[in-house]
Amino acid sequence: MDAPHRIVILGGGAGGLPLATRLGDRYGRNGPVHVTLVDRNATHPWKPLLHEVAAGRMDAESHDLDYPAIAHWHGFRFVQGSLEALDRGQREIALGAVLAPEGEEILPPRRLGYDALIICIGSVGNDFGVPGVMQWAISLDMHEDAERFHRRLLAACVRADARAAAGSPAEVSIVIIGAGATGVELAAELRQTTRAHAGYGLEHLDPARDIRITILEAAPRILPPLSEEVAVAATELLRRLDVDVRAGERVTAVDVEGVRTAAGEFFRADLVVWAAGIRAPPVLAELDGLEVNRSGQLVVGATLQTTRDPAIFAFGDCAAAPWLGQPEGVILPPRAQVARQQASLLAKSIRALLAGRPLPEFRFRDFGSLVSLGEMSAVGSLMGRLVGGSLLIQGLIARAMYTSLYKMHQVSIHGVVRVVFDTLGRLLRERLEPRVKLH
Ligand SMILES: Cc1cc2nc3c(=O)[nH]c(=O)nc-3n(C[C@H](O)[C@H](O)[C@H](O)COP(=O)(O)OP(=O)(O)OC[C@H]3O[C@@H](n4cnc5c(N)ncnc54)[C@H](O)[C@@H]3O)c2cc1C
Repeated sequence: MDAPHRIVILGGGAGGLPLATRLGDRYGRNGPVHVTLVDRNATHPWKPLLHEVAAGRMDAESHDLDYPAIAHWHGFRFVQGSLEALDRGQREIALGAVLAPEGEEILPPRRLGYDALIICIGSVGNDFGVPGVMQWAISLDMHEDAERFHRRLLAACVRADARAAAGSPAEVSIVIIGAGATGVELAAELRQTTRAHAGYGLEHLDPARDIRITILEAAPRILPPLSEEVAVAATELLRRLDVDVRAGERVTAVDVEGVRTAAGEFFRADLVVWAAGIRAPPVLAELDGLEVNRSGQLVVGATLQTTRDPAIFAFGDCAAAPWLGQPEGVILPPRAQVARQQASLLAKSIRALLAGRPLPEFRFRDFGSLVSLGEMSAVGSLMGRLVGGSLLIQGLIARAMYTSLYKMHQVSIHGVVRVVFDTLGRLLRERLEPRVKLH
C-alpha cells in the first residue's frame, strides 16, 4: 500500500482551523491523505475578540475551543508544539518542547514529516524599535496578553477605589498606542466595561471622571486603512464615549510612568497598550531560505505557494500574498476575512494538487470592514455590487454584522446546529452571571 500523503497545517487560527476542519471532513482519519494540525497551544481563541477579553466583556476560557476535541470530531490529527525550524531537503519541521505552566516538560522537542506544508501562524505586535514598548506596554497577540491586561486593569481600578475612599485622587489612566481597528475597539469596550466593573463594589470610583482613556495615533486621523467617512463616524462615537483621541502624535518612548511623543508631550499611564502595527513571527525569517519581506512575512504567489518551494504554502497574516486586481506590488491586508477566504481556496488547491491539476489563484472579495464600538454599536463600510460600491453603516445593524464574522467562523468549525444551541445556552447563562469578568 502507498504511504499516505501527509498534509501539515501549521497554526490553528482564523485560517488554519477552518482549513483543517474541511480537509479532515473530506479525507477522514484513515484514508490515503493524513491531515495534521500543529499549534503551539492546546486551545483556539478567536483573535478578533481579544479586545473583549482584555476589557473583561468576554471570558476567554468559556469561548476557547480544544484542538484535540475538534480534531476528534473532524477526522484530522492534532499535534501541540511550536515551530522552531524547517528542513526542506528532508521535508520536516522541528517543534519545540511543550512545557507545563510550572515549567515541567510535557512533550520533548520533535520532528514532523510532510508532503505539503501550509504555514498560517499569524502575526505579532511590531514595536518598530520604540524603546520601552516590550517592557512596559502590552500587545494583544495572544489570549494570555489579553488576560494579563484585564488582571492589571482590575488591580488598577481596585487600587484607585481605595485611594478615592481615603480622599486622594483616584485617576486610572489608560493609553492605547495605535488607532487601527484594535486600538479603537479596545478604547470603546473599556469605556463600557469599566462602568460595569465600577458597579460591582467599587463604590468610590466614578468611572466617567476617574478613568481616562487616550488613543495616540501617528497618522493624521484614526483608522488609517479605512475610508474617511468611517473614520469621521468612529471619531464622533469615541468622542461621545469620552475617549481622548490624539492624531498626529508619534510615540518615541514608553516607560514606567507613561508615554512620550515626538512633539514633546508626556501622557501619564497606569496601563499602556501597543496596537500600532504587526509583523510576522520572527521564526519565519530563518526558515531554510524561504523568501520573506520587510515585515517578515513569507512571500507567496497567487496560488499561495511560497516563491522558493512549491510544496510549502503560506496564508493569513504571516504571508505576503499579491492582491490581484490592485496595482502590482500591493499585498493583501492582515484580516480574518482574507484568512477565511484563503482557507476555502486552499481546500480546493489540495484537491487539485492530489489530482495533479493546476492550482487555482486567490482573488479576494472584499465585503467591507466593520469596527466594533462596544456592545451596542459598530461602524464600517459594506462593499460589493449589491450596495453599489461602498456603503457606510453604523449602529445596531453594523454591530450584528460584526458579530456574524465570529458566528461564521464558529459555523465553519461546528456547523449551524451546534452554533445555534451554543448561542442559546450563552444567552441563558448571561442572565445568571455578572456582565463583566470580575477576576
Ligand atoms: C484585537 C484584534 C481585533 C481584530 N479584529 C478584526 C476584525 O474585526 N476583523 C478582521 O477581519 N480581522 C481582525 N483582526 C485581525 C485577525 O484577527 C487576523 O487577521 C486573523 O486572526 C489572521 O488569521 P491567521 O489564521 O493568519 O492567524 P491567527 O488567527 O493569529 O492564528 C495563528 C495561529 O498560529 C499559532 N502559532 C503562532 N506561532 C506559532 C508557532 N511558532 N508554532 C505553532 N503555532 C503557532 C497561534 O497559536 C494561532 O493559533 C483583529 C486582530 C486583533 C488582535
